[in-house]
Amino acid sequence: MLYEETRCDRCISRSALGDYSINPYIGCQHQCAYCYVPKITKNPEWKSKVKVKVNLHVTLAKELTNPRIKKGSSFFLSSLTDPYQPIESKYGLTSDALQQLLANGMKVVIQTKSPLVLKDLNLLKYNAKNVQVGFTVLGLDGNVKDALEPNAPSVNSRIKAMAYLADRGIYVFAFLGPVIPAWTDIDLEYLLAELRDIGVKELSVDKLRFRPGLRKELTEIMGNFFHGDLEYESQLAYAKVVKKVREFSGEHGILFTNPFSY
Ligand code: SF4
Repeated sequence: MLYEETRCDRCISRSALGDYSINPYIGCQHQCAYCYVPKITKNPEWKSKVKVKVNLHVTLAKELTNPRIKKGSSFFLSSLTDPYQPIESKYGLTSDALQQLLANGMKVVIQTKSPLVLKDLNLLKYNAKNVQVGFTVLGLDGNVKDALEPNAPSVNSRIKAMAYLADRGIYVFAFLGPVIPAWTDIDLEYLLAELRDIGVKELSVDKLRFRPGLRKELTEIMGNFFHGDLEYESQLAYAKVVKKVREFSGEHGILFTNPFSY
């Protein structure tokens, strides 16, 4: 996948996932088949190129001087890309943004599929009261993972990274979204037990949304795993997963959230 350096005039956006969000990269190397971002951003290059906001440090520093951005605001990293996709190893934009936000007294919620977040372990540990780290984990079957999230790290490696962070006092949550039929609803009990045992504090569930064009792509891929109407099956799977995760969370004192339940 190509990458290109670009510059941004602004980098902080209002977000329903916190007060604000920051996306250091445009595009995502993980290339998940269910990703709706290329559809909503109408970016034809999404699947072929990652744009790197090389002046993010300066832009963010300037924006953080805006008095309307109050100390203690929450920032979501990231809403339209994975902040710890592989190219972060080269540019470190996410680490830099994290450092700046925490130094300015902000709260940060990270969501990723990558153990690369561990490179910021010290920063996360020393600011544990102001950070939460979430990992997307949709199911244990590695074959489905490879089909749907071809370039993302294995689910096992994510679970290990979550355990590592939780052991060091960092608030860790798991995001089970979007629920994929014949994946998230299979082996769910084992996945939930693993997440409980490693000390996950929150379980969050989201449904699959059929943005235009997504149904055909996904139906083709999922045809290797089940036969049936994908939309109908995904509704059934979502209802089953929400019920199970809600009950499980209640039984084990874990916070259950369903942030996009509209
Ligand atoms: S990791 Fe997230 S942003 Fe990246 S392709 Fe997958 S769903 Fe899209």
